[in-house]
Amino acid sequence: MIIGPENRQCPGCGSKRVRLSHRRRLDLLLSLFLVRPFRCRDCYLRFRGLYIRLVL
Ligand SMILES: [Zn+2]
Repeated sequence: MIIGPENRQCPGCGSKRVRLSHRRRLDLLLSLFLVRPFRCRDCYLRFRGLYIRLVL
């Protein structure tokens, strides 16, 4: 199961063209809790969300 940029939706415009954003110092800390920064390619909104990658 993967909850990543591939199947994530922008909370601003609803676009699915979302990619992982660059991590800053705070984001390195948040990544311990599986929270990663994303950015929408359409409206350039930056947001954070769970990023879970489980290999079954
Ligand atoms: Zn958007």
